[in-house]
Amino acid sequence: MKNYDILFKQITEKIANTDFSGYTIQYPPLFSWEVADSADLTEEILKAWKSLLIKRQPYLGLYIHLPFCKQRCSYCRYFALKLERQSDLGDYLSALKKEIQVYRKIFYKSPIRSLYFGGGTPSLLNIRQLDDLFSYLYKNFNLSQCQQITFEGNPDFLDFKKLKLLKQWGVNRLTIGVQSLDSKVIKAVNRYQSQDSFLKCFQSARKAKIENINIDLMVGLPLQTINSTLQTLKTVIKLQPEMIHVHPFYPTALSEFIRKGWRLSKKDMRRREVMSWLSQELIQKAKYQPIKFDADGKNEAARNIQLSDAIEYNAPFLGIGAGAVSHITNYFRYVNAIDIKKYIANLDKNKLPIFLGCRLSKRDEMIYFITACLRYGQVDKLQFKKMFNQDLNKIFQKEIKFLERKGKIKNTDRYLYSKMENLGEYVIYSKYFYDKNLIEKCKKMFPKFKNKLKEEEIIYLEI
Ligand code: SF4
Repeated sequence: MKNYDILFKQITEKIANTDFSGYTIQYPPLFSWEVADSADLTEEILKAWKSLLIKRQPYLGLYIHLPFCKQRCSYCRYFALKLERQSDLGDYLSALKKEIQVYRKIFYKSPIRSLYFGGGTPSLLNIRQLDDLFSYLYKNFNLSQCQQITFEGNPDFLDFKKLKLLKQWGVNRLTIGVQSLDSKVIKAVNRYQSQDSFLKCFQSARKAKIENINIDLMVGLPLQTINSTLQTLKTVIKLQPEMIHVHPFYPTALSEFIRKGWRLSKKDMRRREVMSWLSQELIQKAKYQPIKFDADGKNEAARNIQLSDAIEYNAPFLGIGAGAVSHITNYFRYVNAIDIKKYIANLDKNKLPIFLGCRLSKRDEMIYFITACLRYGQVDKLQFKKMFNQDLNKIFQKEIKFLERKGKIKNTDRYLYSKMENLGEYVIYSKYFYDKNLIEKCKKMFPKFKNKLKEEEIIYLEI
């Protein structure tokens, strides 16, 4: 491996170890964002949203983060906290309402296209809390034309009554975190749900007539065998959910797994690959198709439109809650405080609880588009042209040529196809599109490379 490949690998590791913002790709990466002074930013951010929303934003998204979980799974790399006291949840929900109030005056007329409840475990909220939160959101945002409301949940906290309530409030996409149905694996990763509770939850969701159900599974977890992986998958396929998402387990510094000093051996990684292939084979045999910008599904309606809009249309989205990320198109990405006390304290003073932020250039938005599209297999050059009014081949000529030479992409008239074999390759090679200044910054950040890399060894100078 050449020096610059190692550098890109290090950048990847740095991102994995600092990115607590869920499965969506952030560009520029979170570790390069500046610490924001919320006192100074409130006015500026509200002004920026206001000028963006003067024009109708057809793909506007609203994300609500509910960070609490019953306990923390050992593989978790998200911003999630163990719920110690019920009163913590009550205090948090009061702060959420305050944050909603700060944005209300700017957003209340703008139609929201997608609403997403992520976590943590949003289903930890009881019926009264959910009813109250939904009614507050409907009162303060324009959800009259909302096309998709997604709700993430754990089977143990989703009974028929709750699911019926969600349906009444317009939830039409439910995503159930299962990971595995093997009780040994469940115990090993500090989860708790049983096969029975999952089956009951699934049937209740069907009975409540929630249109789209996505099941999240994982491969490569501790104690997971190929046999138990396929057994879980077969049980899930039998239920015919609209979408199945199989996530390979990539431990990062944010997970208990790494904190406790455990590591994946080469054998574990190979097993994870085999589990991924076999799962993919089984899913495709069951007539699930890859859905654009998402996992394998039965139909297009099953996909998470908040994510696909963010990629395909560079859509703006507002994140409410501790640790939630927002995107003001062509201007700013920012993330709220992850310290709940700070989050609440800022809102008590009517300040936006912004923790980190990053100003965006047009080129940043282009790189986000390319790298996010590559993650799902291809970049549509026509769409790029529509979005940015630029020719992708011209702007990224060097990067495209270089990756073509490496055999990692195929360049056709209309598309740039990824030829990266797995997620591991993607996370490294997609970074060749990153901005030169960011790469220089990274080079300085990593002691291993400090004063050791000659300029000509950096990819952007070589290609
Ligand atoms: S349920 Fe999800 S968010 Fe909560 S700890 Fe487990 S993986 Fe993390």
